[in-house]
Amino acid sequence: LPLVKFSNSLSFSLQAKMSRPLQAQRLEGTDKNIWVEFVKLAATYSKVNLGQGFPDFPPPDFLKEAFVKALSGENHMMHQYTRAFGHPPLVKILAQFYGKLLGRDLDPMTNVMVTVGAYQALFCCFQAFIEEGDEVIIIEPFFDCYEPMTKMAGGTPVFVPLRPKAPKDGKLMSSKDWQLDPAELASKFNERTKAIVLNSPNNPLGKVFSRGELELIADLCVKHDVLCFSDEVYEWLVYDGKEHIRIASLPGMWDRTVIIGSAGKTFSATGWKVGWTVGPNRLQQHLRNVHQNSVYHCATAAQEAVAQGFQRELELYGKADSYFSQLPKELQQKRDWLVQSLDAVGMKPIVPEGTYFLVADISKFKSDVPDVPDSDEPYDSRFAKWMVKNKGLAAIPLSAFYSGAHKNNYNHFIRFCFAKKEATLKAANDILQKWKQEKTSP
Ligand code: PMP
Repeated sequence: LPLVKFSNSLSFSLQAKMSRPLQAQRLEGTDKNIWVEFVKLAATYSKVNLGQGFPDFPPPDFLKEAFVKALSGENHMMHQYTRAFGHPPLVKILAQFYGKLLGRDLDPMTNVMVTVGAYQALFCCFQAFIEEGDEVIIIEPFFDCYEPMTKMAGGTPVFVPLRPKAPKDGKLMSSKDWQLDPAELASKFNERTKAIVLNSPNNPLGKVFSRGELELIADLCVKHDVLCFSDEVYEWLVYDGKEHIRIASLPGMWDRTVIIGSAGKTFSATGWKVGWTVGPNRLQQHLRNVHQNSVYHCATAAQEAVAQGFQRELELYGKADSYFSQLPKELQQKRDWLVQSLDAVGMKPIVPEGTYFLVADISKFKSDVPDVPDSDEPYDSRFAKWMVKNKGLAAIPLSAFYSGAHKNNYNHFIRFCFAKKEATLKAANDILQKWKQEKTSP
């Protein structure tokens, strides 16, 4: 009997503790994550996975060899901690490389920091600069983590959509047909605005912001004393001779911009999780504070290998042999294949100017997956789930890249990733062709 009594009182005290809210309030509404759900669906059902953004081809040999050398070479310090804010060879070469791109002298120790992928670079930005009451402007559609990261820091996201305008001549739509309304953008800036998140080239649309669009954003940032978190992870993936312009290079912007980059995207090695921030020390010092008190450090050997990769790219800069020239060339061809495949079956592609993503219009396929009126789930999300389960083809609904209030305005598009082997894209094409035949045959 005493034992029962003891266990009763124990369970009572446990219960009493559990009656307090467990989750920190600032996490409210941030628990649903598109990647957890759709990565699981793709793993379970997909025959061809064009969903999550990662290449299914290997990184370049020179990069893999550099990693192997770092791991198996004489220098056993490759297995130990290195400098917290970035392995010295990596921050040095990044400072040189971005110095050249931006046309300014960069100090490797104060203007560059290495992070665990661009994700952690973003996390450091939000934690370092956003607090209760601050507003953060996010351009829709957006890489989904910007919203929860704003909220986790106590801030309020303020959304402004890119507005599509169909071309008049019946041509395929391009990502550049999605534009900000200047007056609408200006109306979002006020004394509470602390930062704007810019992602050019943009995931999911592949939009590469033009100089004029960047000047519009820059002028508003300067006028309202607002920071810019510039997510440039797809900086090398631009097509058709288009130029990626760095907003930090515009007047007044260096002092208020954090540039975010990723070796995952740059060298087709997303699993390595090496990212970085570049910016003025007045901003970087606060990023270092968050980094040293949370993650502290990123894998040494991976940083060493990425440093070697950048060393090679600096030597070959602007030359045809450089990976930063070759990769976009190969991807542009893959983009064109996928554009053709989709166009041929009537799933209208929006031709991206950059990134390795392509958004397509599924309106013509509505008869396969009928609408459910009053459903909480956007149509494109149900469509993408149906498609992976019934056709074995995985993609991501575009509504996942919109805020709750705007999801249903953009619910008839899905996003495909075309950083895939030729065989994978061919298999996707086969699925689409077969699907079209089934639709048209009586
Ligand atoms: N920003 C954007 C726009 C992305 O698409 C991604 C990855 N999908 C990231 C940041 C995160 O990059 P990383 O894998 O280096 O953390």
